[in-house]
Amino acid sequence: MLERPKRKNPVLRTRLPTLPPAARSRVALGLTAAAALGRFELQQCRDCGDVQYPPREACQSCLSTKLRWKNQSGKGELLAETTLHHSNDLFFRERLPWRLGYVKLDSGPTVVAHLHASIKQAPEKVIVRAMLDRAGQAVIVALPEKENASMANDRQLREFTCDPKFRKILVTDGKTATGQALVKSLVKAGADLIWVGHSEPWKKFPGFDELQRLSQVTLLPLDLTDSKNVREAVAEIGGKVDIVVNTAEYHRGFGIGNRAGVETARAEMDVNYFGLLRLAQELGPAMRFRGADGQSGAVAWVNILSIYALANFPPHGTFSASKAAAHSLAQCLRAEMRPAGVRVVNMFPGPVDDEWNQLLPPPKITPAALANAVIKALQDGVEDVYPGDVAQEWLARWRDNPKALEKELSS
Ligand SMILES: [Zn+2]
Repeated sequence: MLERPKRKNPVLRTRLPTLPPAARSRVALGLTAAAALGRFELQQCRDCGDVQYPPREACQSCLSTKLRWKNQSGKGELLAETTLHHSNDLFFRERLPWRLGYVKLDSGPTVVAHLHASIKQAPEKVIVRAMLDRAGQAVIVALPEKENASMANDRQLREFTCDPKFRKILVTDGKTATGQALVKSLVKAGADLIWVGHSEPWKKFPGFDELQRLSQVTLLPLDLTDSKNVREAVAEIGGKVDIVVNTAEYHRGFGIGNRAGVETARAEMDVNYFGLLRLAQELGPAMRFRGADGQSGAVAWVNILSIYALANFPPHGTFSASKAAAHSLAQCLRAEMRPAGVRVVNMFPGPVDDEWNQLLPPPKITPAALANAVIKALQDGVEDVYPGDVAQEWLARWRDNPKALEKELSS
């Protein structure tokens, strides 16, 4: 049973974060790339059909090098299990006891998996998934065949996820439709405390009263275009934030030719790119420092980017450019947060059904659906999310041929 974490003793020294072993061969990164999207993929031989594990350069049965990554059901049977009471690895030594088991997959290979507590003993049917560990690498986790309501509370599983339950969360802008939907979803998901940023504290905004009525919500003056304000806000709450969701966004239509001057483009960059940079410079170190606070440690940083970060959508051309810049910066942030085990989650929605996309025809993703996708990403522990039909379709086209997508979007 998961309990609310105890208050931290402020006199105690904070432990340095440790990470699980992170070295992988280049070919094994295929497993990690799929896990980052929440998929479990293994290599399958094109010549003999054999499914491979661990990842390798040539087929273990016929030595063919024609191996391709294919989605797996993860169904299998636990053959044997053990509980570690000792480990030479620092990360696991701090987390003992730890359960592991051998799982024979229905598709062939046998894998070593981390075991969910509700798996009793071998033999038992299980479902395995590839999940990212605190070092950002894929590991295999075995879950009970039937999902249960309290499944996410498992101590070992929470080492791989960033579940908002009992956590303290900063939503950087509560004024946007997405920000407001997100606060409601976080309350439903069991967040302990939510700071909701708003950039003009003297002004009420639509939805303000409703947010203020939620007992978990504390409103926080926060303007990501103001370095001094960001520094002051982080000085106040930085040492307590477990998860940050950056919803602050400036969005106007138009590309290059149909607007004079650079003021709008500069305002977009100032929030969407420099806003992220200012926040990362101030809050990043505070969260890195708290990566080792165990169950009450900092765990995740979520950026609401856009599918336009992958390929420019000329009717929203300067907005696309600001999101592409933010995407690149978010990759830098991910690398810098990794040593502390803090996961950077990037969301790439298609057009959101808000006031700035009024002129776009449907389909659009609703703010509520986007908010739920953020919660699910945290609960599943994934890194990159393309929520909604439009984002999924564009992602598929972009993976197939980035140039073709550029052409399609510009015609
Ligand atoms: Zn083969």
